[in-house]
Amino acid sequence: MYSGGFYPYKTPEEFWAYWSRYIFINRYMDAPKPVYSDLLALVKDKDYFVITTNVDHCFQKAGFDKKRLFYTQGDYGLFQCSEPCCQETFDNESLIRQMMEQQKDMRIPSELLPVCPHCGKPMTMNLRSDDRFVEDEGWHVAAARYSDFIRTHTGRVLYLELGVGYNTPVIIKYPFWRMTAQNPRATYACINYGEAVCPTEIEGRAICIDADIAKVISEIKR
Ligand SMILES: [Zn+2]
Repeated sequence: MYSGGFYPYKTPEEFWAYWSRYIFINRYMDAPKPVYSDLLALVKDKDYFVITTNVDHCFQKAGFDKKRLFYTQGDYGLFQCSEPCCQETFDNESLIRQMMEQQKDMRIPSELLPVCPHCGKPMTMNLRSDDRFVEDEGWHVAAARYSDFIRTHTGRVLYLELGVGYNTPVIIKYPFWRMTAQNPRATYACINYGEAVCPTEIEGRAICIDADIAKVISEIKR
């Protein structure tokens, strides 16, 4: 599905026929496994904060406290102006559902093409893919909460990194390594299928588990 998102669709009607199904499945349907709720059970009584590059809303759907979440890369559930002419985002659920229901022969009806209410240009997903990504008010509030949390938690801290690859390591992985190196009371833990590694500088305070996150989390919970 992710790869299909990069296909050069010939018309916006075909583009939205694909993307509306993509968004519906990944953003509005329930996740197929209880990984997020298992994780919540482990952290809910602790002083936690989540930073994620996921854009599928699974943390909110599982019941994580919204004030303890920072979605850095956007949300499949929001549209923004493609220009963008404003730093605003727009809920897309009802339009996405209409696109899903009314598409035929891999096209949506042209009247459902989303346009910016301010300038009339096409809308696009609120996802960070280039410098046109809109950081709306909610994004800035969450970013400030995350940096406050980092600044005020400098004692015993567990930096738990789940499934972070090398697509955008500068957002979570490298900062977690750096903060662990700088704080002798910190522990770094990484659960990653195939890429559970850390620098030698923090090896003594690192737990790297090369395994399926769902299995590990459910075993810890048990
Ligand atoms: Zn606009």
